[in-house]
Amino acid sequence: MEQSAVIKDKVFSAEEHRRIREKFPILSRQVYGKDLVYLDNAATTQKPNSVIDAIDSYYRNLNSNVHRGVHFLSQSATDAFELAREKVRAFVNAKHTKEIIFTRGTTEGINLIASTFGRKFINKGDQILITAMEHHSNIVPWQMICEERSAELKVIPINEKGELILDDLDNLLNEKTKILSLAYVSNSLGTINPVKDIISKAKAKGICVMLDAAQAAPHIRIDVQALDVDLLVFSGHKIYGPTGIGVLYGKEDLLNELPPYMGGGEMISNVTFEKTTYNELPFKFEAGTPDI
Ligand code: PMP
Repeated sequence: MEQSAVIKDKVFSAEEHRRIREKFPILSRQVYGKDLVYLDNAATTQKPNSVIDAIDSYYRNLNSNVHRGVHFLSQSATDAFELAREKVRAFVNAKHTKEIIFTRGTTEGINLIASTFGRKFINKGDQILITAMEHHSNIVPWQMICEERSAELKVIPINEKGELILDDLDNLLNEKTKILSLAYVSNSLGTINPVKDIISKAKAKGICVMLDAAQAAPHIRIDVQALDVDLLVFSGHKIYGPTGIGVLYGKEDLLNELPPYMGGGEMISNVTFEKTTYNELPFKFEAGTPDI
């Protein structure tokens, strides 16, 4: 287990505790006559003042059409949007900002990859590998593409301690396996999977790996280059950000090979009724995103 990467539990003094609570306005509420205690952070986090203020300030000062206007507000909003992309790039240590695709969340990121990777690379008889501890978002999109492409879904089992049973990994990663998609950290068990080892085994066989980092992003320093992972997804709302935004990281060469997902908005380069050409990365996958 890669426990060393986890920010260790810390005991907070009463003063530190008060200062942290103060950052989250919702925690000043009383519920059932007591100060609100919120523990459901794995499902979604509460928002600190800094996030609420940034959203408020956006709508008061900057709101306009990102990447699609020449006027002052649009240019300023575009600059802020691309600054956020650079911050996300640094957050996961990606090589280029064009490898950071804004999505609506983890679920959309996985669906985007299952659909586009599936259409490009999955054929009859191929296998897709997931694990027995996946969130539904990392099961159902793969079942859908398996049905569409006549492929087979294989599942790495878990033991009674809630850890992956990796004894059979060498057989499960075979010449039929086109992609392995697994959780970095389990949402139901809290298990931290030994993803570095698993990724290197898959890469040794030329198999693409996607990490569902929805539960890892809030707790583990993510370094996509050190992990050598091909694709990685997470959600804004689990890391104190707003609901309805998320991130897909993908290696540039792989993303370039994939067909577009949703049509319209920022993903076009040129549209005629006869033929549409698509925008380059990262906008190729950001149909409509700036208009959310
Ligand atoms: N994967 C994991 C591991 C999760 O914990 C969650 C959210 N519980 C998801 C995927 C789906 O995330 P979202 O609803 O933000 O798309």
